[in-house]
Amino acid sequence: MSSTDVPPARRVFCNRTLNLGAIGAIGFDMDYTVVQYDPTAWESGAFGHAVAYLHDALGWPVDRLTFDAADVTQGLIFDLETGNILKANRFGYVKRARHGTQWLSLQQMREHYSRTVVHHEDPRFVFLNTLFSLSEATLLGHAVALWDQDRLPDVPSLTALYRHVRAAIDHAHRPDQLKATIAAAPERFVDLDPDTAPALLDLADAGKKLLLITNSDWAYTEQMMRFALDRFLPGTTTWRDLFTLVVVAARKPSFFSGDAPCFEVDTSTGWLRPLDGPLQPGRVYHGGHAALVERALGLASDQLLYLGDHFFGDVHASKSALRWRTALVMRELEDEIEAAVAFAPTEQELVARMADKERLEDALNQARLELLRVRAGRAEGAEDAVGARIDGLRRELAALDALVAPLARASAERGGSVWGPILRTGGDKSYLAYLLERHADIYTSRVSNLLHATPFRFFRSVKGTLPHDAVTRDVEGA
Ligand SMILES: [Mg+2]
Repeated sequence: MSSTDVPPARRVFCNRTLNLGAIGAIGFDMDYTVVQYDPTAWESGAFGHAVAYLHDALGWPVDRLTFDAADVTQGLIFDLETGNILKANRFGYVKRARHGTQWLSLQQMREHYSRTVVHHEDPRFVFLNTLFSLSEATLLGHAVALWDQDRLPDVPSLTALYRHVRAAIDHAHRPDQLKATIAAAPERFVDLDPDTAPALLDLADAGKKLLLITNSDWAYTEQMMRFALDRFLPGTTTWRDLFTLVVVAARKPSFFSGDAPCFEVDTSTGWLRPLDGPLQPGRVYHGGHAALVERALGLASDQLLYLGDHFFGDVHASKSALRWRTALVMRELEDEIEAAVAFAPTEQELVARMADKERLEDALNQARLELLRVRAGRAEGAEDAVGARIDGLRRELAALDALVAPLARASAERGGSVWGPILRTGGDKSYLAYLLERHADIYTSRVSNLLHATPFRFFRSVKGTLPHDAVTRDVEGA
């Protein structure tokens, strides 16, 4: 399949020019990157384990709560000061907010946020950026509703509430909790993709060293990788043959900047022994840090590409600490692009009606100014005639607004989530889109999309646009 035949939802998109041919090594995260899960199965499982923990260990009245995947989305933000869950635009302005299970009105949003700009380094805000965050966002909404009703008497503050929910989610992700359930029945949780193994084989055959760098432990990693890849590999080839280095329990994001000790995993017993000398190809390591990887490979930082789904854990950290090239894997992009393609005719209609609206508004403004000048005796004309024209324009605008409103609402809410598309807020880019543009060199919905891109692809960034570009284009075309 040539790259232009690839369906839009399966393409690789480029923020910053990247020559895949010049990349010497590619690191991969595992969970939700090389191994894709069914988010609803995983997240409702995590939600169940977290709820059981809050109920049994802390006595919270949460045992009847259920998880609803359509109720939350990636890229939401928890406000520790108010307990609201927010969606912000690329400037950090809050555009939607919910408290517990209630949406805030425009007036309430103005009261809370007219002087507040959301920023990812502000400790007031917790960013819920991955598919792992869906259960956390749902649980936070329910917990805040209970807290408001004084049903969590031992929780003194929203920060304490957040810490308890976070601890419950961490507990759910422990090897003996949800991961034990998944390892026992991976077919219920793993979303198999037959194109991932051939995509990795092509990259390895093209001379790229492949690395697996995951926060999961060895036993779980081995089971998941074997389940997801070996069935699609030729002959006796296993997933281990594809990867030059495997690092488990990596503790990203600190893996990219810290100097944690490294152990070699004895893969037959699972036992660990302290690292003796440099990392060796074909072995499995536990912990350690990125400088050991760079040293073992002998590559410059811009020859390393790292792919992950966790914005802060994978992409932001590897880019800011090491200047590695970065790729964000965003499964929800597929639904988002498909929804945008299906919505395109309505979107065109909306753009056309908005252009009509601007023309009418301009005509109205000119007529109002004419009336002022006539009244001041600075222009010729009859006041009544200009006034009648103004009334007519106002009626036309009101009729047009009645057409535009449902189109604008449908545009903001397209896709499956009540929060709208993850990379958009209304007509603008979302805060998540801002982070994506800034820190991910390329992005795509799944690792297997590299199959069609080929290992030699030169990804070129699209020309950045500014509002005045449209004007110069119009003038050029005239
Ligand atoms: Mg991951």
